[in-house]
Amino acid sequence: MPRPIEARIHPRALTHNLARARACAPDARVWAVVKANAYGHGVERVFDALRGADGFALLDLAEAERLRALDWRGPILLLEGCFEPRDLELCSRLGLWHVVHCTEQIDWLAAHKTHTPHRVFLKLNSGMNRLGFRPQAFRAAWARLNVLPQVEEISLVTHFSDADGPRGIAHQLAAWAEATADLPGERSLSNSAATLRFAQDAGVRADWVRAGIMSYGGVPDFPEHDMAHWDLQPAMTLRSKLLAVQDLQPGDTVGYGSRFTAEAPLRIGVVACGYADGYPRHCPTGTPVLVDGVRTRTVGRVSMDMLTVDLGPVPQARMGSEVTLWGHGPGGSVLGIDEVAQAAGTIGYELMCAVAPRVPVVVD
Ligand code: PLP
Repeated sequence: MPRPIEARIHPRALTHNLARARACAPDARVWAVVKANAYGHGVERVFDALRGADGFALLDLAEAERLRALDWRGPILLLEGCFEPRDLELCSRLGLWHVVHCTEQIDWLAAHKTHTPHRVFLKLNSGMNRLGFRPQAFRAAWARLNVLPQVEEISLVTHFSDADGPRGIAHQLAAWAEATADLPGERSLSNSAATLRFAQDAGVRADWVRAGIMSYGGVPDFPEHDMAHWDLQPAMTLRSKLLAVQDLQPGDTVGYGSRFTAEAPLRIGVVACGYADGYPRHCPTGTPVLVDGVRTRTVGRVSMDMLTVDLGPVPQARMGSEVTLWGHGPGGSVLGIDEVAQAAGTIGYELMCAVAPRVPVVVD
């Protein structure tokens, strides 16, 4: 028997979440962001459910090739553009649209011999200070691209640093408005957080939104609102079973470092899931978990292959009982990945991407 752990991918949830992106930004087109192997879900596993998107955005050329191999003929956008000049050849061959964020990428285009002109998304650094031309240099970059025969169409793109935080997007919107004012071309500004929070503003939803985490039912880093508030559904469930049950007496401790001490008699369950499966080791006692669909908490340290849970709220639990680490549990129960992430001091994005290769993946 294999270890009783699996990740399940839920295509219906993906389709639902994509529809939510459309509902938030009704007259915009939607890129389904599938970088990092579709945020850990698997490009091939999510493709059918997300093929209603207007395009796919990612960064790895090999992932773009995988999409074309699935016979996706629509737009594919390389969010970081080319990493070296010879990538332009593959862009031409696969018909990829690509971000241009620096002078070197314009130099490569200018030197590139192509029969099929490129569609590029010129990136403004409106305040994130990661990729893109600063506002003062943006127009000159646009003018250089505009005269290249290698370039067929120039669209404009930027990325928000605080769409999910208290600082918001106003400062970046101001920089964007000034730098792009009278430039032609389609525009894309919003990630999931901006799509959920600000897409009622036509200038924010613009021509294309880029729906990443929300496609997978994860909520951007909003401490105040959960999945249900945004009407998103988890696209991944990580589930396992109880391997063993222990009856603790007062004073007994649990696991490495004896981090948890029972103050009263307590039944605990031992779950076949540990940090080698991608569950965060630094989750403290009290991290939420479902046993047989009932909400309870972890106790003690997470170890490589196991973690331990309080069975107080689930007296009927026994060896073999189902444990939901995140996602959908039995009887319609749900545990948001963001709740687990918050307990671990991280974000749902990281947990999705970190599910280990040893965990078998099943598609509903
Ligand atoms: N656009 C760009 C340029 C990104 O780097 C990302 C992800 O980090 C996204 C869109 C999608 O962001 P999110 O997953 O928060 O929707």
